[in-house]
Amino acid sequence: MEADLVLHSGRVVSHIGEFHGGVAVRDGKIVAIGDRDDLPSAARTIDLEGRVLMPGVIDPHCHLGVNYDYDEDMRTETAGAASGGVTTILLFARNPAGSYIPFYQERRARGESQAYVDFGFHFGIQREEHIAEIPRIAAETGVQSFKCHMGYEVGNSIGIVSSTDAWVYGAMREAVKLPKGVVSVHCENTDLVTMLKKEMMATGRQDLAAYTESRPAFVEEEAIVRVIRLAELTGCPLYIVHTSVGAGPDLAAEARARGVDVTMETCPHYLLRTAYDEDLDARAKISPPLRDRENLEGLWRGVLGGAIDTLGTDHVPFKKTGGDLWSEKPGVVSFAWELPLMLHFGVHERGLSLSRLVELNSYNPARRFGLLPRKGMLAVGADADLVVVDLDLEKEVKATGKGTCLYDGWKLRGWPVLTVSRGRVVAENGVVVESEHGRGRCVTVPESERRD
Ligand SMILES: [Zn+2]
Repeated sequence: MEADLVLHSGRVVSHIGEFHGGVAVRDGKIVAIGDRDDLPSAARTIDLEGRVLMPGVIDPHCHLGVNYDYDEDMRTETAGAASGGVTTILLFARNPAGSYIPFYQERRARGESQAYVDFGFHFGIQREEHIAEIPRIAAETGVQSFKCHMGYEVGNSIGIVSSTDAWVYGAMREAVKLPKGVVSVHCENTDLVTMLKKEMMATGRQDLAAYTESRPAFVEEEAIVRVIRLAELTGCPLYIVHTSVGAGPDLAAEARARGVDVTMETCPHYLLRTAYDEDLDARAKISPPLRDRENLEGLWRGVLGGAIDTLGTDHVPFKKTGGDLWSEKPGVVSFAWELPLMLHFGVHERGLSLSRLVELNSYNPARRFGLLPRKGMLAVGADADLVVVDLDLEKEVKATGKGTCLYDGWKLRGWPVLTVSRGRVVAENGVVVESEHGRGRCVTVPESERRD
């Protein structure tokens, strides 16, 4: 049997460990793993020369088509993702206008005509009817992951509808009935944010730290405690998105010890940036906000020690005005740099093991969102979603695309050099293979369409 592609003589890293060898790929799947002698001949053979081979990154958290056109974002941003070693992205999509059934059909079709890599959806609870629609959404679209937002005051600059506690509880009560049901929550106390923001605005401050101090860490901590309690009461798996507070990992670990099924995510920006960094201004506004050194170190302890489960970029391309702090839209981009940032600052500087990085970046997101065993693993029969990394390659971050990058000009050591999506090379040496445009497929599909 001839394979389509063989990658051999590499340092093969999975979530459980590593060995010297490679993989063979045929028809988009991994068909063999092992020593060079165990692998068949192939149409294309690549000698990895000891470089690292890992499962492709699964980014569980992004927003596309929010500011720019959805089709355009699905093309440009998934190209960036492919160049950064990301082979699956999960979009937190919202449809405040109505039902998610036609919305899904439309977004899926448009996404599949544009994307370079695979993608899937979580749906935001934006009105009470969405809670009642959960069983039908799961049956007709396959989406079993729902998000409740908090911390967006009425009249916020991006039109997000915050959930009440009743919405969170109601969504959990429905999602827990699904085989892979999970509720994600953006944890910030909406009432406190509304009040404290008003007070801070009255001071006239316009610096980035004023935004941070208008929604201090306790506002997020309080909400984390509250939603963990609701998850405990309903038995619903809980996914805490973009944790920015250092106390977060401890709260998650305590809850897990009591048997609560809680998964915690943080983002590269909370590990690498603070609101007090001198080169940052209102354009670095993110929700929740960048914090301080102490919170940053607490998050690293969670990443290194195991209490943080996943990394999401919260990638969202916005045109920023650079004007008024309070009306500036929150969000930054990092698809293309998340992996190099974690290799540089995590693996090289803080001793993060590569298998732990695979767990954070691929295995845990796949497990949480029902993509195992097709995604997130190096196993025979799994999709051949792979990334080859040169741990010693040094390059500068060059932000040429849309959105705000917080790392422009940073010199990083450790970069992806080859990205394979379902057996096809979609990026090589940071350059996307243009002809793979429109090859990405939706991974959240109804049961009748599942092929694993
Ligand atoms: Zn987000």
